[in-house]
Amino acid sequence: MTTIYDIAIIGGGPAGLFAGYYAKLRNLNTCIIESLPTLGGQPNTLYAQKKIYDVAGLIGVSGEDLSSKLIEQLNMFDCDIFTKTTINSINSNPNYISLDSTNGEIKTKAVIIAVGNGAFNPRKLAVEFDSKLNNHVDYFVNDINKYKDKDVLVAGGGDSAVDWAFEINKVAKSTSIVHRRDTFRALESSVIRMNNSSIKQVTPYLIEDLQSIDNKLKVILSKARDKNTKEELVVDNLLVNYGYTSDSKLLRSWGLDLTGPYIKVNQKMETNLNNIYAIGDVAEYDGKLKLIANAFSEGTIAIAQAQSKIYPDKSYFEHSTNLFDNK
Ligand SMILES: Cc1cc2nc3c(=O)[nH]c(=O)nc-3n(C[C@H](O)[C@H](O)[C@H](O)COP(=O)(O)OP(=O)(O)OC[C@H]3O[C@@H](n4cnc5c(N)ncnc54)[C@H](O)[C@@H]3O)c2cc1C
Repeated sequence: MTTIYDIAIIGGGPAGLFAGYYAKLRNLNTCIIESLPTLGGQPNTLYAQKKIYDVAGLIGVSGEDLSSKLIEQLNMFDCDIFTKTTINSINSNPNYISLDSTNGEIKTKAVIIAVGNGAFNPRKLAVEFDSKLNNHVDYFVNDINKYKDKDVLVAGGGDSAVDWAFEINKVAKSTSIVHRRDTFRALESSVIRMNNSSIKQVTPYLIEDLQSIDNKLKVILSKARDKNTKEELVVDNLLVNYGYTSDSKLLRSWGLDLTGPYIKVNQKMETNLNNIYAIGDVAEYDGKLKLIANAFSEGTIAIAQAQSKIYPDKSYFEHSTNLFDNK
């Protein structure tokens, strides 16, 4: 018989990760479904190296470190996690809610929607290349050690591209960055730091073609507004960091009461659909502040409400200090 989860959380950003942990803390059979290959949401994807100063108890934590801490906390329990899985639709049945995912059906008694601004997708290279070269081209950094002692080219001009160039430069043999404009869009302080670093800047150039050469990647670049001026770089890896698009269109077909691209919720984080809650950036109510701190709090409210509906006999509120033997 297939599992019917107590709680299925759609979205593995800060809201979904903490809600997942809190649900497991309350002993609920829980899964988290994330469309990207990695968990962490916006802090991990959009501003991994930037410091966050308004999460209680954490003084200047980077987006990446916050994500790691949330994942470590979640891993205290055995929570089912489905990455590279997008929820396309939600259908209520008499005994359970059915989630139609890109990897098949997921059944659950309650749903917490924590999809932020919608499913992220990296902006792809506008260049056709042989699929055999795919293992040289990344859109995400899953493990920085992949670049250890390698020649790496980062493509992009924003904060994220420059921040990743710094991180990669700590382990790589050589790091270059290519941007189509003369000036980078990243923070001025980061650009000054980059000017004083060993990162080679190739501007204003566009990637025109990718070819294979001796098990390496030959990147052919053409100068912006002067296509006949070319450069060639031979590297082991290319990290494309052109930003992300987010798609909130899916929500419109889920039968939810929306306000713009956001889901209307009441004080219990309930949506208009039975046993379906929304938290984090996607949830909208009077006075809403899109902050990680609030996303955490909304998660505890939604889990407590869902629990009281699924298991009316169980106390829906407990201090965590009462849940474990604290010896
Ligand atoms: C540059 C920047 C700086 C910021 N600085 C701060 C700050 O200093 N302090 C602060 O509190 N907040 C900050 N924020 C805002 C903060 O990042 C968000 O409030 C927070 O990430 C919201 O968390 P979330 O889990 O609701 O959504 P997200 O972080 O957006 O995560 C949602 C996740 O759901 C996944 N998803 C979406 N649709 C689907 C689907 N259909 N199926 C499966 N998975 C799906 C997405 O891939 C994503 O991983 C900043 C945001 C940005 C962009």
